[in-house]
Amino acid sequence: MQNSTPVSRRPYRGRFAPSPSGPLHLGSLFTALASFLEARSQGGEWLVRIDDIDPYRTRTGAADRILFSLESLGLTWDGPVIYQSQRSDFYKTGLDSLQAQGLIYACDCSRRELAGEEAGVYPGFCRHKPLRPQPGQLALRLLAGDMTIRFEDRVQGRVEQHLLQEVGDFIVYRRDGAFAYHLATVMDDADQGITEVLRGQDLLDSTPRQIHLQQRLNLPTPGYAHIPVLVNADGKKLSKCTLAPAAETRQPSQLLGYLLQRLEQPLPAGMASAPAGEILDWATRHWQLSRLCGVGPITLVPPTFSP
Ligand code: GLU
Repeated sequence: MQNSTPVSRRPYRGRFAPSPSGPLHLGSLFTALASFLEARSQGGEWLVRIDDIDPYRTRTGAADRILFSLESLGLTWDGPVIYQSQRSDFYKTGLDSLQAQGLIYACDCSRRELAGEEAGVYPGFCRHKPLRPQPGQLALRLLAGDMTIRFEDRVQGRVEQHLLQEVGDFIVYRRDGAFAYHLATVMDDADQGITEVLRGQDLLDSTPRQIHLQQRLNLPTPGYAHIPVLVNADGKKLSKCTLAPAAETRQPSQLLGYLLQRLEQPLPAGMASAPAGEILDWATRHWQLSRLCGVGPITLVPPTFSP
């Protein structure tokens, strides 16, 4: 059993890491605003990283549109924006280190072969196959380790996952030649000195894998806070898959007021039409992450202001 060591005693540095698979929709903006306010309320820095590691999901122009939307709302970030698509050499150093430790093996299992496996747990079919790693042809998996990963989430409380039983050995390098999200994310979070990761609850399940990778790569573990996700009327998470529309940012004050209401931080009467900058200042001063504790998925009520 291993426990994670939270990064402490360093000044707060948070981040928002959107995948540019489409324009910024309300669900992503909801998370962006929360991570911005959490960082600023602690006098910390807030970075933006573009998670464009997956070339098949990346849409041309989407990253610029996302950055434009953030700026239109006054969500200004610190330092340069980094793009995962430009950092393959860096991720390769992490993969090499895992390989040198004998923690990686090649896998030729197809989706079809794995379709019947219980709850998506990889059963280790290729663990003992004599497959030679061939980047671009075979996936590479990291040995999950027979251990329980535990961490204290600032919104969800204590989280535990037995990696081998609940996830199995997981992919760090994909068959199509892309580095997997988990590897790129932990390497970037460490390289950027992120002390706290605030993101949607849909990624809670990924966190033990990321902590495992941090331990294997000797990287610090940031603090984690997973906030409820915005869902549509059918209870499905707002995402590009559920065809969530782009957030309309032409009326920043109304949009911020709307999102703050959903984040359980309603604006006082009379502030609704204040300039966006004033709303953000107020929200930074009054922000309380704990108001999101115990809150389930938040159903989107379409904004009533006109576009
Ligand atoms: N890029 C991921 C997404 O847009 C978020 C990654 C993260 O916050 O770790 O869902």
